[in-house]
Amino acid sequence: MLIEPFLCRKDNIAVLLHDEVSRKTIAIDASDGTAILEKLDKMGWLLDIVFITHHHADHTEGIHILKEKTGSLLIGPEDEKEKIPGLDRTVRDGETINTGFCLVQAIEMPGHTLGSMTYYIPQEKHIFTGDTLFSLGCGRPFEGSAAMLFSSLQKFNKIPDDTQVYCGHEYTVSNGYFALMVDPHNQVLQKRMANVIALRQCGKLALPSTMSLERMTNPFLRSADPKIRINLNLINASDESVFAELRERKDNF
Ligand code: ZN
Ligand code: FE
Repeated sequence: MLIEPFLCRKDNIAVLLHDEVSRKTIAIDASDGTAILEKLDKMGWLLDIVFITHHHADHTEGIHILKEKTGSLLIGPEDEKEKIPGLDRTVRDGETINTGFCLVQAIEMPGHTLGSMTYYIPQEKHIFTGDTLFSLGCGRPFEGSAAMLFSSLQKFNKIPDDTQVYCGHEYTVSNGYFALMVDPHNQVLQKRMANVIALRQCGKLALPSTMSLERMTNPFLRSADPKIRINLNLINASDESVFAELRERKDNF
C-alpha cells in the first residue's frame, strides 16, 4: 500500500492511501478538495472512499467538490451526521469498514468534538488521529471537557508501539516547544525536536510519528511521568488532573 500525506490549506494534513493491486484509493478528511484532486491527478489515482474524522470546516470543506468530481463514498462519525453534509455511510465506535483492500477500524475519541473518530488500520500499522492526537500534542477540547479528552486518549494505550501516526495538522514544531518547556530533560524529546526542526526547515512534514515515539515524547500521553509532575508541582495529583493542567497551560502558551 502506498501512502501520501501532504500539507494543504495552511497546516492541515491530507492523506491518500492507494493499493496497487485493487487500484483503490482512500482519503482521510476532505480538508481541501482542489488540492486533493490535484494530488490524485498527479499520482494517477482514482478516489473511492473518504473517511471524515470530525465535522470542523477545515476537515470537511472539500466534501462537495470531491463527491462531485470523483463520486467517492463518504464515511464519517454517526454522532456528527447532522453536521457533515453528504455522508453516505456512518460509523460508530468499534465498527470496521472493509475498503476492498484493507480493514479500517473506527475508534470514537470524543473531546475535540463530541463525535471525533480516529481511524486505525491494524494490518498496515497506520492510525489517523484527526485533531485528537497531534504529533507532540493533542487537540483542544472544544466540545468536550479535558476529562473527556483524557479518557479518549487512554484508548491509544492499546495501539502497538510500531504503529505509524498521521494526525490532522502539522503543529509539531510549536507543540515541541511546549513539550520541551514541561519536559526539558527528556533526551528522546530533545533529539526528536532537532530532527523535526530540520525536516520542517527543508519543507518536509514531520510525519509520520509512531505510537512509541509519542509515548516517549508527547506530554499529553505522559501525565504519569514524575519529571513532568515535578515541573508542574503536581506530584501526587491524578493523571487526569495533570493532563488538564497541561492542556490549560498549552492553551495559554
Ligand atoms: Zn478540528
Ligand atoms: Fe482541524
